[in-house]
Amino acid sequence: MIKEITINSKRRVDLIDITSIVRNEVKNSQLKEGVVNIFVPHTTAGIFINENADPSVKEDIKNALRNIAPENGNYEHLEGNADSHIKSAIVGVSISIPFSEGEILLGTWQGIFFAEFDGPRTRKVIIQIH
Ligand code: ZN
Repeated sequence: MIKEITINSKRRVDLIDITSIVRNEVKNSQLKEGVVNIFVPHTTAGIFINENADPSVKEDIKNALRNIAPENGNYEHLEGNADSHIKSAIVGVSISIPFSEGEILLGTWQGIFFAEFDGPRTRKVIIQIH
């Protein structure tokens, strides 16, 4: 079972909580137990799991990635988005989460973030439920 969802990012770097979307897709699949894979088919965006309770964590992650790959660094890639490619490579483009009784087994403080690194843009996220 494969579903493609659309995300409209609002800023150049934008971390968007998609936990409720994934939770609903798993519920709607009517499957009780399995794995949901979430894949981002882009080279300047990504996906990761981290704390979504305290919003300052999101800001710290953005700041840390900016320190590693500043927007105006000295890069070979001349499209003006070399930092976006690097941030995407660091966070990755795919995650897998087990689910049981139709509920994804995230920890209490975990949320799923779509990571925009070269927005604002319209993006695709592929959700496959096994
Ligand atoms: Zn590029």
